[in-house]
Amino acid sequence: MRVVDVRCHVLLDPGFDPSATSSAQDTIVVEVITDEGLVGIGETDLNAWVARACIQAPGTHTMDLGLQQMLIGSDPLDPEARWRELYRGSAMSGRRGAVVHALGALDIALWDICGQARGVPCWKLWGDAAHDVLTPYASLQPEVSSLDEYRESIQVWARRAVAAGFTAVKLEATFSGPYRHRGIDAPDEAIADVVAAVRREVGPEVVIMVDVQYAFDTVDRALETAQRLAEHDVFFLEAPLWPDDLDAYAQLSRRSPVPIASGEWLSSEYEHRDLMDLGGVAVDQPDVGRVGGLTPALRICALAGERNRLVVPHAWKTGISVSVAAQLAAITPHMPFFEFLPDDLCESALRKELVDDGISFRDGRLELPDRPGLGLVLDRDALARFAEAAEAVSRDRAGAPR
Ligand SMILES: [Mg+2]
Repeated sequence: MRVVDVRCHVLLDPGFDPSATSSAQDTIVVEVITDEGLVGIGETDLNAWVARACIQAPGTHTMDLGLQQMLIGSDPLDPEARWRELYRGSAMSGRRGAVVHALGALDIALWDICGQARGVPCWKLWGDAAHDVLTPYASLQPEVSSLDEYRESIQVWARRAVAAGFTAVKLEATFSGPYRHRGIDAPDEAIADVVAAVRREVGPEVVIMVDVQYAFDTVDRALETAQRLAEHDVFFLEAPLWPDDLDAYAQLSRRSPVPIASGEWLSSEYEHRDLMDLGGVAVDQPDVGRVGGLTPALRICALAGERNRLVVPHAWKTGISVSVAAQLAAITPHMPFFEFLPDDLCESALRKELVDDGISFRDGRLELPDRPGLGLVLDRDALARFAEAAEAVSRDRAGAPR
């Protein structure tokens, strides 16, 4: 079998809000086409236009080859070999960041082809089931602009999530720092107050995770919040510090009474190894596309297992990323939860309309994926609509030539 073509679809939710901080408003979807009629689908969490450029850019020398250029003509049934070639062949531009994120979409599509070729869901290519059912958690981020509205709204959202069967929720409680959502500005004490209110709402059994999205500029601020959160039985505190400062993560991880989680922005297994070994995090959070696809994500899960760390992946795109995370969860015993939103708790049209991911959510649990490959069916009408919206924005924003 050979790869004969790679198609890149840059997609945008026509109702996107430029003031929101959500990467679920646009996406890149790749289709890797084979000469035997199988088509693999992949996605990654990177500016979709940048991702397309990373894939389609040609190269002119042996250490700076184009990703698509290297993939076409190769055997799709050996994704690990393809990953090594693409990673090494693009090394002068890549190794980390955007090029590795883009490589992730292609690697995911290759694994999809492998699963389809064997007639099994991807996870069965890697091992035995580690869980009978998968446990998703709901990320809750009220679209409001003041702390009072936030407190009220997050309690309503938490109640809805629990009513839908969720046993775990994550509060996006970001009231300072670069990720501050819709202008909410509140003192650090507000984080624990909001968590206490949600804890009263949902009772002692529900798992609560807290994501502050890089809110703190010092270890001391992060530690004070962690100490306050410890009173409310929090499963982890996510992204308290800027991801480049592994020394600060190490200091915090050593002293925090609450497990520290991070890793959503990192690329490659090497950055995740450093986050665990130098940053000391208890919970590693790879985003499968951004790390470079399922090939490095599987190695990251193995590294975490060897170090007795948990893996709770980041997945904030369409049903493609959800299916990908579910495949990984199926075989990873130290992955207790993964990020998932059912349609009625989510605001992204891309998430709701682009693909049928075949994942059935019932009573707060997901069945193990059972369709061949990633089991994805793209809605071509929705794809065309989202592609048109992206095209219109790129015409608008590209600006007139100077
Ligand atoms: Mg996060």
